[in-house]
Amino acid sequence: MKQFRVVPDYHMHTPRCNHAVGSICEYAQAAVDAGLLEIGMSDHSPMPNGFDKAWRMDESELDSFLKELEQAQDEFKDRLKIKSALEVDYYPGAEEYITYLSQYYDWDYLMGSVHFIGDWGFDNPDAVSRFESCDLEQTYCDYFKLVEQSASCGLFDSIGHPDLIKKFGYRVLGKSERVEAAEYAMLEAVKAADVALEISSAGLRKPVKEIYPHPRIVAQAAALDIPFAFGSDAHSPAEVGHAMSDCLALLHHYGITSVATFNKRQRSPMSFVKG
Ligand code: ZN
Ligand code: FE
Ligand code: FE
Ligand code: ZN
Repeated sequence: MKQFRVVPDYHMHTPRCNHAVGSICEYAQAAVDAGLLEIGMSDHSPMPNGFDKAWRMDESELDSFLKELEQAQDEFKDRLKIKSALEVDYYPGAEEYITYLSQYYDWDYLMGSVHFIGDWGFDNPDAVSRFESCDLEQTYCDYFKLVEQSASCGLFDSIGHPDLIKKFGYRVLGKSERVEAAEYAMLEAVKAADVALEISSAGLRKPVKEIYPHPRIVAQAAALDIPFAFGSDAHSPAEVGHAMSDCLALLHHYGITSVATFNKRQRSPMSFVKG
């Protein structure tokens, strides 16, 4: 982080989602130790009707999440800002429940993420074999259409890991005009809805070994003047702030010099370039 100022890490989880470790204070201490000044706790939100319930907090856990968060905010108030957030799954039909969640608390931001195409939890390692039999080009188009809808629904401040579909390294080989058109339509929806995209280091820790989103998407987003917010998607305190400088370097390569910060669902830019 020599070249750039430190920025907020807006994506981390708690054990309530059943696949993360560490208390909020442990994430906060890890952030302080890494030199961060601001983080956002964005655990997997509850969803209605038992949707993917093994991988998220139950609605009955929201209050304990917020209580632990407020205690950590108080304990770290002189050292670290801790923002209140959720990573909310988006699928068509979830809008009413997402509206309910948005009114449940005075959140700093809500991040919308697509982890499902229909009933296929495509980022779940247990379901990865479906990549072998699917039409990959159609799958990518379906995915970006859902991300487009997640932006257009107007309920989110940022869009998590905007090309998560590549997580396991299954990619459309060669140039695909259909996929590129779907990506671009997604970006136009993001622009029209005035939401931010996440730049996420999590992909570097997955089989794809690449930042989310792809440099081509970063370049097009930069041309559209779409803001980015950084997230490590930490599922353990050791991952807080992971590869922040690589993500900022990618943004900077395309002429982006600030990231989005969030406070009570208001977005402000923060320059990450020194000098
Ligand atoms: Zn997770
Ligand atoms: Fe996610
Ligand atoms: Fe996450
Ligand atoms: Zn995530």
